Amino acid sequence: MPELPDVEVYRRRLAHGALRRPVDEVRVHDATLLEGVTAEALATRMVGRRLTGTARRGKHLFARVSGGDHLVLHFGMTGVLLTDDVEEEPPRHTRVAWTLRGGTRLLFVNQRKLGHVALTGDADDYCRRHDLGPDALDVDGPALRRLLGGHRGSVKALLMDQSAIAGLGNIYTDEVLFHARLDPRRPADGIDVREAARVHRQLHRVVRVAVDAGADPARLPRGWLLHAREQGAPCPRGNGEVARVRVGGRSTYFCRACQS
Ligand SMILES: [Zn+2]
Repeated sequence: MPELPDVEVYRRRLAHGALRRPVDEVRVHDATLLEGVTAEALATRMVGRRLTGTARRGKHLFARVSGGDHLVLHFGMTGVLLTDDVEEEPPRHTRVAWTLRGGTRLLFVNQRKLGHVALTGDADDYCRRHDLGPDALDVDGPALRRLLGGHRGSVKALLMDQSAIAGLGNIYTDEVLFHARLDPRRPADGIDVREAARVHRQLHRVVRVAVDAGADPARLPRGWLLHAREQGAPCPRGNGEVARVRVGGRSTYFCRACQS
Protein backbone atom coordinates (compact mmCIF):
# COMPACT_ATOMS: atom_id res chain seq x y z
CA MET A 1 0.00 0.00 0.00
CA PRO A 2 1.47 3.36 -0.98
CA GLU A 3 2.74 5.31 2.02
CA LEU A 4 4.69 8.55 2.28
CA PRO A 5 7.89 7.22 0.60
CA ASP A 6 5.98 5.76 -2.34
CA VAL A 7 3.97 8.94 -2.84
CA GLU A 8 7.14 11.02 -2.61
CA VAL A 9 8.62 8.87 -5.39
CA TYR A 10 5.48 9.51 -7.49
CA ARG A 11 5.73 13.23 -6.73
CA ARG A 12 9.30 13.34 -8.00
CA ARG A 13 8.31 11.37 -11.07
CA LEU A 14 5.60 13.91 -11.82
CA ALA A 15 7.90 16.86 -11.08
CA HIS A 16 10.62 15.52 -13.38
CA GLY A 17 8.48 14.22 -16.20
CA ALA A 18 5.21 16.09 -16.45
CA LEU A 19 5.54 19.76 -15.60
CA ARG A 20 5.18 22.78 -17.88
CA ARG A 21 3.83 21.03 -20.95
CA PRO A 22 0.23 21.69 -21.96
CA VAL A 23 -2.26 18.92 -21.31
CA ASP A 24 -3.61 17.83 -24.69
CA GLU A 25 -6.06 15.21 -23.52
CA VAL A 26 -7.52 13.77 -20.32
CA ARG A 27 -8.90 10.31 -20.70
CA VAL A 28 -10.91 8.86 -17.84
CA HIS A 29 -11.11 5.09 -18.17
CA ASP A 30 -12.92 4.66 -14.89
CA ALA A 31 -14.94 7.50 -13.38
CA THR A 32 -15.60 5.74 -10.07
CA LEU A 33 -12.27 7.07 -8.74
CA LEU A 34 -13.17 10.68 -9.50
CA GLU A 35 -14.02 12.58 -6.34
CA GLY A 36 -16.22 15.65 -6.63
CA VAL A 37 -15.49 16.14 -10.32
CA THR A 38 -16.94 14.62 -13.47
CA ALA A 39 -14.82 13.27 -16.30
CA GLU A 40 -16.02 16.17 -18.46
CA ALA A 41 -15.12 18.78 -15.86
CA LEU A 42 -11.70 17.20 -15.27
CA ALA A 43 -10.97 17.51 -19.00
CA THR A 44 -12.42 21.01 -19.34
CA ARG A 45 -10.44 22.31 -16.39
CA MET A 46 -7.16 20.66 -17.47
CA VAL A 47 -6.91 20.53 -21.26
CA GLY A 48 -4.76 23.40 -22.53
CA ARG A 49 -3.42 24.03 -19.02
CA ARG A 50 -0.04 23.00 -17.63
CA LEU A 51 1.02 21.35 -14.42
CA THR A 52 3.25 23.92 -12.80
CA GLY A 53 4.34 22.44 -9.47
CA THR A 54 3.93 19.61 -7.01
CA ALA A 55 3.34 19.17 -3.31
CA ARG A 56 2.63 16.27 -1.02
CA ARG A 57 0.76 16.05 2.26
CA GLY A 58 1.16 12.60 3.75
CA LYS A 59 -0.14 10.13 1.19
CA HIS A 60 -1.87 12.81 -0.91
CA LEU A 61 -0.12 14.19 -3.98
CA PHE A 62 -1.01 17.64 -5.33
CA ALA A 63 -0.11 19.13 -8.69
CA ARG A 64 -0.78 22.80 -9.32
CA VAL A 65 -2.61 23.44 -12.58
CA SER A 66 -2.14 26.77 -14.37
CA GLY A 67 -5.33 28.74 -13.93
CA GLY A 68 -5.60 28.02 -10.21
CA ASP A 69 -6.73 24.43 -9.74
CA HIS A 70 -4.84 21.70 -7.95
CA LEU A 71 -5.00 18.11 -9.13
CA VAL A 72 -5.22 15.77 -6.13
CA LEU A 73 -4.19 12.13 -6.30
CA HIS A 74 -4.67 9.58 -3.57
CA PHE A 75 -3.48 6.06 -4.23
CA GLY A 76 -5.59 3.87 -1.94
CA MET A 77 -4.21 0.35 -1.56
CA THR A 78 -2.70 -0.27 -4.97
CA GLY A 79 -2.35 3.03 -6.84
CA VAL A 80 0.71 3.93 -8.88
CA LEU A 81 1.61 7.04 -10.85
CA LEU A 82 3.58 6.36 -14.02
CA THR A 83 4.82 8.32 -16.96
CA ASP A 84 5.18 6.69 -20.34
CA ASP A 85 5.15 7.45 -24.01
CA VAL A 86 1.87 7.78 -25.91
CA GLU A 87 3.10 5.19 -28.42
CA GLU A 88 2.86 2.51 -25.76
CA GLU A 89 -0.25 0.66 -24.73
CA PRO A 90 -1.27 1.97 -21.31
CA PRO A 91 -0.94 -0.66 -18.58
CA ARG A 92 -3.92 -2.61 -17.36
CA HIS A 93 -5.90 -0.86 -14.62
CA THR A 94 -5.07 2.60 -15.97
CA ARG A 95 -7.92 4.70 -14.56
CA VAL A 96 -6.99 8.18 -15.76
CA ALA A 97 -4.44 9.20 -18.42
CA TRP A 98 -3.20 12.72 -19.18
CA THR A 99 -1.51 13.18 -22.53
CA LEU A 100 1.00 16.03 -22.52
CA ARG A 101 2.25 18.04 -25.47
CA GLY A 102 5.31 16.30 -26.87
CA GLY A 103 4.01 12.80 -26.31
CA THR A 104 4.50 12.00 -22.65
CA ARG A 105 1.59 10.55 -20.78
CA LEU A 106 0.87 10.63 -17.07
CA LEU A 107 -0.98 7.53 -15.88
CA PHE A 108 -2.92 6.93 -12.69
CA VAL A 109 -2.96 3.14 -12.46
CA ASN A 110 -4.91 1.43 -9.75
CA GLN A 111 -5.75 -2.22 -9.62
CA ARG A 112 -8.29 -1.93 -6.83
CA LYS A 113 -10.77 0.87 -7.00
CA LEU A 114 -9.68 2.65 -3.85
CA GLY A 115 -8.10 6.05 -3.83
CA HIS A 116 -9.23 9.04 -5.82
CA VAL A 117 -8.56 11.77 -8.32
CA ALA A 118 -9.92 15.22 -7.52
CA LEU A 119 -9.56 18.85 -8.49
CA THR A 120 -9.65 21.63 -5.95
CA GLY A 121 -9.21 25.37 -6.09
CA ASP A 122 -7.69 25.39 -2.61
CA ALA A 123 -5.31 22.65 -1.51
CA ASP A 124 -5.23 23.76 2.13
CA ASP A 125 -8.99 23.72 2.30
CA TYR A 126 -8.97 20.25 0.71
CA CYS A 127 -6.64 19.04 3.48
CA ARG A 128 -8.87 20.56 6.16
CA ARG A 129 -12.00 18.99 4.73
CA HIS A 130 -10.24 15.63 4.61
CA ASP A 131 -8.95 16.08 8.15
CA LEU A 132 -5.31 15.68 7.10
CA GLY A 133 -2.73 16.52 9.71
CA PRO A 134 0.70 17.96 8.92
CA ASP A 135 3.01 15.92 6.74
CA ALA A 136 5.13 13.56 8.84
CA LEU A 137 8.33 15.20 7.57
CA ASP A 138 7.10 18.64 8.64
CA VAL A 139 6.49 17.59 12.25
CA ASP A 140 9.53 18.70 14.23
CA GLY A 141 10.76 17.11 17.46
CA PRO A 142 8.80 19.29 19.90
CA ALA A 143 5.61 18.95 17.84
CA LEU A 144 5.95 15.17 17.77
CA ARG A 145 6.46 15.16 21.54
CA ARG A 146 3.27 17.18 21.98
CA LEU A 147 1.35 14.81 19.71
CA LEU A 148 2.58 11.79 21.66
CA GLY A 149 1.85 13.39 25.00
CA GLY A 150 -1.72 14.20 24.00
CA HIS A 151 -2.63 10.72 22.82
CA ARG A 152 -3.86 7.96 25.14
CA GLY A 153 -3.79 5.16 22.58
CA SER A 154 -0.76 3.25 21.39
CA VAL A 155 2.20 4.94 19.78
CA LYS A 156 1.49 2.91 16.67
CA ALA A 157 -2.10 4.10 16.41
CA LEU A 158 -0.97 7.70 16.76
CA LEU A 159 1.70 7.41 14.05
CA MET A 160 -0.90 5.95 11.70
CA ASP A 161 -3.56 8.55 12.48
CA GLN A 162 -3.58 10.71 9.33
CA SER A 163 -5.39 13.53 11.12
CA ALA A 164 -2.53 13.80 13.65
CA ILE A 165 0.49 13.15 11.43
CA ALA A 166 0.02 12.34 7.76
CA GLY A 167 2.03 9.87 5.72
CA LEU A 168 2.87 6.69 7.61
CA GLY A 169 0.85 3.52 7.12
CA ASN A 170 1.12 0.06 8.59
CA ILE A 171 4.46 -1.03 7.12
CA TYR A 172 6.52 2.11 7.70
CA THR A 173 5.09 2.70 11.17
CA ASP A 174 6.34 -0.74 12.19
CA GLU A 175 9.68 0.02 10.54
CA VAL A 176 10.12 3.33 12.36
CA LEU A 177 9.26 1.75 15.73
CA PHE A 178 11.65 -1.14 15.07
CA HIS A 179 14.52 1.30 14.49
CA ALA A 180 13.43 3.45 17.44
CA ARG A 181 13.33 0.25 19.56
CA LEU A 182 9.89 0.96 20.91
CA ASP A 183 7.12 -1.56 21.48
CA PRO A 184 4.29 -0.48 19.15
CA ARG A 185 1.73 -1.18 21.90
CA ARG A 186 3.21 1.38 24.28
CA PRO A 187 0.77 4.15 25.22
CA ALA A 188 1.85 7.26 23.31
CA ASP A 189 1.55 9.48 26.36
CA GLY A 190 4.01 7.26 28.25
CA ILE A 191 6.83 7.82 25.73
CA ASP A 192 9.58 9.89 27.36
CA VAL A 193 11.55 12.74 25.83
CA ARG A 194 14.50 10.63 24.75
CA GLU A 195 12.27 7.97 23.23
CA ALA A 196 10.29 10.62 21.37
CA ALA A 197 13.53 11.99 19.96
CA ARG A 198 14.40 8.48 18.74
CA VAL A 199 11.04 8.19 16.99
CA HIS A 200 11.57 11.56 15.33
CA ARG A 201 15.11 10.72 14.21
CA GLN A 202 14.24 7.26 12.93
CA LEU A 203 11.14 8.48 11.14
CA HIS A 204 13.23 10.91 9.10
CA ARG A 205 15.98 8.38 8.50
CA VAL A 206 13.64 5.56 7.44
CA VAL A 207 11.76 7.86 5.06
CA ARG A 208 14.96 9.27 3.57
CA VAL A 209 16.48 5.83 2.98
CA ALA A 210 13.19 4.54 1.53
CA VAL A 211 12.81 7.47 -0.86
CA ASP A 212 16.45 7.16 -1.96
CA ALA A 213 15.73 3.51 -2.77
CA GLY A 214 12.73 4.50 -4.88
CA ALA A 215 10.49 2.97 -2.18
CA ASP A 216 11.34 -0.38 -3.76
CA PRO A 217 11.33 -3.02 -0.99
CA ALA A 218 13.91 -5.10 -2.86
CA ARG A 219 16.37 -2.19 -2.60
CA LEU A 220 15.80 -1.47 1.09
CA PRO A 221 18.49 -2.53 3.58
CA ARG A 222 18.60 -6.21 4.54
CA GLY A 223 18.48 -5.25 8.21
CA TRP A 224 15.00 -3.75 7.94
CA LEU A 225 11.98 -5.31 9.58
CA LEU A 226 9.99 -5.13 6.37
CA HIS A 227 11.86 -8.17 5.07
CA ALA A 228 10.90 -10.16 8.16
CA ARG A 229 7.18 -9.50 8.56
CA GLU A 230 6.33 -13.01 9.66
CA GLN A 231 5.53 -14.50 13.05
CA GLY A 232 8.65 -16.25 14.36
CA ALA A 233 11.00 -14.87 11.69
CA PRO A 234 14.50 -14.20 12.99
CA CYS A 235 14.95 -10.59 14.08
CA PRO A 236 16.89 -8.71 11.38
CA ARG A 237 19.24 -7.53 14.15
CA GLY A 238 19.96 -11.16 14.98
CA ASN A 239 18.44 -10.65 18.39
CA GLY A 240 15.23 -12.51 19.20
CA GLU A 241 12.39 -13.25 16.85
CA VAL A 242 9.62 -11.30 15.22
CA ALA A 243 6.20 -11.39 16.84
CA ARG A 244 2.89 -10.55 15.27
CA VAL A 245 0.23 -8.80 17.29
CA ARG A 246 -2.82 -6.73 16.54
CA VAL A 247 -2.44 -3.01 17.27
CA GLY A 248 -4.94 -0.38 16.25
CA GLY A 249 -6.77 -3.04 14.28
CA ARG A 250 -3.73 -3.80 12.12
CA SER A 251 -1.29 -6.71 11.92
CA THR A 252 1.80 -5.42 13.62
CA TYR A 253 5.29 -6.92 13.62
CA PHE A 254 7.98 -6.20 16.14
CA CYS A 255 10.86 -7.84 17.99
CA ARG A 256 10.20 -8.44 21.69
CA ALA A 257 13.94 -8.58 22.37
CA CYS A 258 14.82 -5.26 20.68
CA GLN A 259 11.71 -3.21 21.30
CA SER A 260 10.38 -2.27 24.71
ZN1 LIG B 1 15.44 -8.00 17.65
